[in-house]
Amino acid sequence: MDNLKEINLLIKCLKSLIEDKEVPSVPPEEIVNIEDFGEIYASLLEIRNVFIALGKGELTYPIKSKGYFPGAIKSWQASLRHLVWQTKAISAGDFSQRVAFLGEFSESFNSMTERLAMTINELSKQNKEKEKREVELIKAKEAAEAANISKGLFLANMSHEIRTPMNGIMGFLELLNMSNPSAEQKEYIREAKSASAVLLYVINDILDFSKIEAGRLAMEESRFKTRTAIEDAVSLHVHKAFEKNIELYSMINANVPEEVIGDAQRLRQVLNNLIGNAVKFTEKGEISVTVDCLEEEDEIALLNFVIKDTGIGISQENFQKLFHSFNQVDSSTTRKYGGTGLGLAISKELVALMGGEIEFESTLGEGSTFKFDARLQIAKRAPDHSYVFKELAGVNILIVDDNPSNRKIAVSYLGGMGCKVFEAKDPGEAITAIISKVNTRDKIDIALIDYQMPGMSGFELAASLKAIPFAKDIKLILLTSAAQRGGAKEAEQLGFAGYLIKPIKRDDLHNCIAIVLGLKSEENTEPIVTKYVVQESLDKRKPKILLVEDNEINRKIVIAMFKTRGIACDVVINGLEAYQAVEKKDYDVVLMDCQMPVMDGYKCTAKIREMEGSSKHTTIIAMTANVMEGDREKCIQAGMDDYIGKPINFDDMFQIIESYTERGRVSSEHFNFIANYIEGFIERTGISRDDAEEIFADYAQKLSQILQEVENYLANDDLENLRILAHKQKGTAGNLCITPIYNLVVELEEAVKKREKEECLRIYKEVQKLFH
Ligand code: ADP
Repeated sequence: MDNLKEINLLIKCLKSLIEDKEVPSVPPEEIVNIEDFGEIYASLLEIRNVFIALGKGELTYPIKSKGYFPGAIKSWQASLRHLVWQTKAISAGDFSQRVAFLGEFSESFNSMTERLAMTINELSKQNKEKEKREVELIKAKEAAEAANISKGLFLANMSHEIRTPMNGIMGFLELLNMSNPSAEQKEYIREAKSASAVLLYVINDILDFSKIEAGRLAMEESRFKTRTAIEDAVSLHVHKAFEKNIELYSMINANVPEEVIGDAQRLRQVLNNLIGNAVKFTEKGEISVTVDCLEEEDEIALLNFVIKDTGIGISQENFQKLFHSFNQVDSSTTRKYGGTGLGLAISKELVALMGGEIEFESTLGEGSTFKFDARLQIAKRAPDHSYVFKELAGVNILIVDDNPSNRKIAVSYLGGMGCKVFEAKDPGEAITAIISKVNTRDKIDIALIDYQMPGMSGFELAASLKAIPFAKDIKLILLTSAAQRGGAKEAEQLGFAGYLIKPIKRDDLHNCIAIVLGLKSEENTEPIVTKYVVQESLDKRKPKILLVEDNEINRKIVIAMFKTRGIACDVVINGLEAYQAVEKKDYDVVLMDCQMPVMDGYKCTAKIREMEGSSKHTTIIAMTANVMEGDREKCIQAGMDDYIGKPINFDDMFQIIESYTERGRVSSEHFNFIANYIEGFIERTGISRDDAEEIFADYAQKLSQILQEVENYLANDDLENLRILAHKQKGTAGNLCITPIYNLVVELEEAVKKREKEECLRIYKEVQKLFH
């Protein structure tokens, strides 16, 4: 029985080792001495503690017991410790560690380690490549920037290098043309000139395009007259359109601001390209350029330009080709019409720089319409034109033109002036209208007559009207597309009082009508109002010019060009000589090359400005083949007044010189004197102060030239021209209500008629005295 009790105790003791949380460190006394049980109990207790410690993550519980089982646990404990150590090594980056423990576990553990090693390897490789790429990118960026700078420099140099010989070619062709060539030679010269112009056009396009690509195209910001910029662009194509017998007209709505701030040259460039294309791709019909102001917000005007033609059109499948560089819709077009395929791509960029977009509609065989808009800052709003010239209100005007668009424009331009405008589509209708209105309130005062009409020409209609007693007093104004100088004389003989060139410009039309009415007199011999009369007379003044140019060919051309106008200029070959020349002599204009040996144009200008201080200002105009962006600014910053690009457009050159010599001659005395009469003029006409001042400033500018002409006529005994001039000036001075000038000019006209030259001289001196 006792044994059974011990066995029970033994089982209870072993059970407690397995189940209980707390167990005694030695077995109960009754069984401790059973053979070896004390030792077995101690071993089992130690193993129990090892497992409990393992459960808590402790791998270092000491095992003192001997034997196979404690030994196995000891080695298991050691394996676990090794595993922990290996994991630590792996986490520290040693992926060479391999585990040999727990069969399947070690396999997955090792494969995990291998994968980890591979991934990390891959990542670090990628990282290295990325770093390498970044370094390469930085290097490439630096190289591209350097290439861009040298591309810009290359372009500037190329432009300079190409323009210099082009100047030679174009200039000598111009001279050759003046050297009395035979008809055949003239034709060759014309071809060579047109080829050079095309070459220059291509060079300009390529330059512009490269500037756009290099992001170097910036817009200038300066104030300009909106109408003039648009009308100038249209005028450039009038001749070509006339040659092709296409009607080209522009219609600028009254809401378009008078003056805006922006880049006039770039605006003209886009218009030129679109109008040029319209003329190029149109064989019959008409081309219209309409401009409207869509909205005004925060002093910014959104202008909308529409260029519509009745030309060959573009097929739908070619639509997407447009506006991409070097793209023309098909190569046969290129062969037939020429062009670089850059125009539209450049225009698109320019329009974007003006804050707008360009779009088009086209139907093959019917025509195309290109539209674009531009946001420009308003400098001067569109005036309220209800009474620019008060007297125009209530005037009845008849427009006789077979082209409905031209009639529409005239109606629109004149309607706003308070005039009553009637339309006639042919001479027959015109005569009927005039006759039917004779005894009514709509009696026609002025007839605008188109030169070219089917059936009866404008001249024939004028002759008929002059033969009808109650129509002979109607003021006739001729509208003609042919900008021919001779036409004015014939028109005057036929009794036309004014002469306007199409496309009609609103301000020219208003001025022409106002002058025609203002000059009303019993004699009915008013001079024809035409721009050409003015241009021809400008040639008569001879400014003092200094040419500074190191290139011999360029010198020869410019000197010869001046010679054709009877002007002898002084010539020097570098900045230093120019400085010395200006020190000794007063010049009206110095034409200054920029790049020159010894002393360049910039330095020379700076020295001249330093010498002059505030007491004097000689007009210096840069004449250079540097036409890259910023070159104009560089010249202006150096103290120059203006800029002419090479190859020189000689018409432009003479015009610029004229404008400066004109400006130089406007003596403040002239203006000071006539300014006393502005108030009276405003009172009489109701014109705005701004416009009145502009008209008077314009007159002051012309006065010096007029006086010079009087002097020339007197010196040459040319009393006939003096009479015409006096008569014209009588009208002008009368219109402007400048009584002292008016009275003296009336006396002058009388004296000329009586051929009293001494008396003329006395009166001329009296006029001059007015200004002192
Ligand atoms: P290009 O110097 O060849 O005229 P553009 O870029 O100005 O270059 O025009 C690209 C092409 O678009 C032209 O070659 C022509 O095929 C087509 N195109 C442009 N304007 C017109 C138009 N008004 N009528 C018909 N086709 C036109």
